[in-house]
Amino acid sequence: MEIPKECSAAVFEKIGSRIEIREFSLPEKIDDNAILCRTSFSTICGSDLHTITGKRIEPVPLILGHEITGKIVRMGKSVENDGFGNKLNIGDRISWTIMASCGKCYYCNKGLPQKCEKLVKYGHTSINNNLNSPLLGGYGEYVYIVPGTVVFKVPDTLPDEIAAPANCALSTVINAVDTIGIEKGDCVMVQGAGLLGLNACAILKEAGAKEIIITDVIDSRLEMAKEFGATAAVNTKNTDDAQLKKIISDLTGGVGLDAAIEVCGFSPAVKTAIDNLRTGGRYLIAGLVTPGSLLNIDGNTITRKYLTIRGIHNYNPEHLGKALLFLEKNKEKYPFNEIVKIRFPLSGINDAVEASKSGEFIRVGISF
Ligand SMILES: [Zn+2]
Ligand SMILES: [Zn+2]
Repeated sequence: MEIPKECSAAVFEKIGSRIEIREFSLPEKIDDNAILCRTSFSTICGSDLHTITGKRIEPVPLILGHEITGKIVRMGKSVENDGFGNKLNIGDRISWTIMASCGKCYYCNKGLPQKCEKLVKYGHTSINNNLNSPLLGGYGEYVYIVPGTVVFKVPDTLPDEIAAPANCALSTVINAVDTIGIEKGDCVMVQGAGLLGLNACAILKEAGAKEIIITDVIDSRLEMAKEFGATAAVNTKNTDDAQLKKIISDLTGGVGLDAAIEVCGFSPAVKTAIDNLRTGGRYLIAGLVTPGSLLNIDGNTITRKYLTIRGIHNYNPEHLGKALLFLEKNKEKYPFNEIVKIRFPLSGINDAVEASKSGEFIRVGISF
């Protein structure tokens, strides 16, 4: 395969300044377990916006973007199979874990490779790194996939627009639902109808949840959530806590929620969920990813109600495999093809970011 000497990538340098397109050399030699891939499609995730707006601090300058699909153009000599066990070849279209882990440290050995002591995260790593290439983000024409990343072939039937966000939003939600556990007939509340919330509705539906109550402050997202399996959608901008409690009580025969999942990033939502969980209820927090997310909850409630409260951040490689299989099976049942409604070329990255900031689109795409 013909590989150029240079490629373009969008570099974020500091809050408030425009993202600039720069030229980078492609690595001439790659590590034995590394892969070089040509980016096919990327999407803008909420966490990219957090970096751009300064809500979270990342090492700059960097190439943002971690929801990506690409095609393999070069493979290190030790690369063999993908996470499904399929042999990898030049030209394969792939998705890969948002992170690379060492496989040897304390956390890797404890089943938390996403918390590896030597963690590398795509779209979160400076171009000035010691990893053999600056090309570690999705807003570039090529991505260098470092050793310790788990790669999966994307099923042929999945378009890039559907597959690209799988390695962040969908994999995280699969981890969330696996972690908190859902039984057939459960009544569950999902807080937040962004892409994580929409995905959660579909996963809960397939897991056999009876009631899926979603909350958000944007009506169009709530409408979309119904198409993803939500049985009730509540706009918390015009519904107070007492009214929400009544709605939940009516839907659960007065018992309360079996489980709730927070993916809205709004810390007061935690109290709302805890107040509405039944005795023995389970709560999973996945969206409070900015420092300062303080909670106003009464510990006595947690004790007396026998609550389980868990947190998760990102996911294990197996969750990405499950995410791709979930999409392959359910892409027609739920409107996954409606998630990316607008696309920009790489040269339009600043317009793409503005479109994403508007909140009007679930995901904005960058096509290559
Ligand atoms: Zn993301
Ligand atoms: Zn490790």
